[in-house]
Amino acid sequence: MHRATTALLRRLVAVLTFAVLALLAAACGKEGSPPVKGPQPDQLPQYRVNEGYELPQSPTWRKAKARGHLVVGVKEDQPFLGEKDPATGAYTGFDIEIAKMMSAYLGFEPGTVDFTTIASANRETALQNGQVDYYVGTYTINDLRKKQVGFAGPYYMAGQSLLVRADNNDINGPGDLAGRTVCSAAGSTPLQRIEKDYPEAEPVAYDTYSICVDNLLTLQVDAVTTDDTILLGYAAKVPDELKVVGPTFSDEPYGIGVPRSDNTLRLALDDGLEASERNGDWKKAYDATLGLSGHPAPEPPPIDRYPAG
Ligand code: GLU
Repeated sequence: MHRATTALLRRLVAVLTFAVLALLAAACGKEGSPPVKGPQPDQLPQYRVNEGYELPQSPTWRKAKARGHLVVGVKEDQPFLGEKDPATGAYTGFDIEIAKMMSAYLGFEPGTVDFTTIASANRETALQNGQVDYYVGTYTINDLRKKQVGFAGPYYMAGQSLLVRADNNDINGPGDLAGRTVCSAAGSTPLQRIEKDYPEAEPVAYDTYSICVDNLLTLQVDAVTTDDTILLGYAAKVPDELKVVGPTFSDEPYGIGVPRSDNTLRLALDDGLEASERNGDWKKAYDATLGLSGHPAPEPPPIDRYPAG
C-alpha cells in the first residue's frame, strides 16, 4: 500500500481508538479489554460532609439548599480532569474531586451534587444566569473574567503547552507555529494568547479540545494548544500518536468560578480549599486523578482572597 495511505489509515485507527477508549473502559474486567488508565472509582477519596453547615448570606447557597442539591458546571472530555463515562454518565477527574470536596465543605451530601457540562466559551453566561451554582473546569483566573464572575482559589497552577503528532519534529514551541494551523477551544485563554502573541500562526477554534484532537489525528491541523494538564491527558490516551512538546509558556491559575456578586460563596470556597489542602484531601484527590498522568503532586498555589469590587 502507498505509504501516505498507510499513514492515514493508521491515524484513522488512532481517532477511533481515541473515541472508543471511554467505551472500552466501561467494559473493563472483560477478557481482552485494555488496561484502564483513568481514575478508578474505588480509589477516589471520600470527603467528610460538614454537617449543619450554614451560609445564609450566600444567595447561591440558599437557593441550592432550598432546591435540595447543588448544580456544578464541569468539563466532560478532559482526561484526568473532568471526564464523563458515556456508559454510566459518571464524571471523574481532579476538577470533579475539587467540586465534590467543596460540596462536602458546604454541607451537601455526595448524592446531592448534579454535574452539568459547560464548554469554555459558555462559562461566564452559565454563572451569570444561574444555570450553575459554581464551576470547576480548568478555569483560568484573570482580570478580564473577574469583571464577569468571581473566582475562589487558585487550587492548581497549569501552563499553556502544545500537542502535536508523534512523528512531528518541526514544532517544539509556540515560536514554530508561523504558517501552521493550531487548534484550541473558543473562549479560552490559550486561543487568545495565540491570536495576540503569535500572529503568524493560523488559529482554528472549536467548542471542545477533543474535537481539536480528532482534527490533529486526521491531519486537519498541525497542533493543539491549551493547558499542559489537558494535553497530557490526551497524549496518554494514544501515546504512539501524540506528544506534548516544549516548556509551558503561560501561567494558568485554576479557580472555582462563582456568580460575581456572591462574595460570601467565593470566600467560603477559599476557606474550603485551604482546609482541604491542610487536611490532605487535596493531595489525595490529585494522586487519584491528575497524578495518574505521571507528575507528582506539586504544592498548591496560595489562595488569593481578593477584595470585592
Ligand atoms: N485554562 C484555560 C482557560 O480557562 C484553558 C482551558 C479551558 O478552556 O478550560 O481558558
